[in-house]
Amino acid sequence: MPDDNPPPCTDVADHPCPCGTGQPYRECCGRWHAGPQRLQAPSAQALMRSRYSAYVLGLDDYLVATWHPRTRPAQLEPGDAALRWLGLEVRRCAQVDAVHATVEFVARSKIAGRAFRLHETSRFERVDGCWLYVDGTID
Ligand SMILES: [Zn+2]
Repeated sequence: MPDDNPPPCTDVADHPCPCGTGQPYRECCGRWHAGPQRLQAPSAQALMRSRYSAYVLGLDDYLVATWHPRTRPAQLEPGDAALRWLGLEVRRCAQVDAVHATVEFVARSKIAGRAFRLHETSRFERVDGCWLYVDGTID
């Protein structure tokens, strides 16, 4: 058996990032999910994209860690096993002040053949240098 096969996880790392930037995962949201830059997303938009990717990849720990303690649910709702995320489109980003920002996005998904479209404007707050998700308004 040759032992020079890369470990399976590099597949995901080299894949285009689920958030749709066209960058490899490891150079996009993967940086904020794990490793030395974990939780260091430099902007509300980068954090929003990384949370979408975390939903796609099932990274519940990251979703909890980037949720503002004030609004974080005690427990994440279990994901629908039949749900498939299809794509993310960031519509608008607005910096409210140094520590508050909003991001408007559309996320598309499919459950058992039915297409869904989530259009939300999310609010973010920077706490101790880390951007956190606060809450969102669904249009
Ligand atoms: Zn990404």
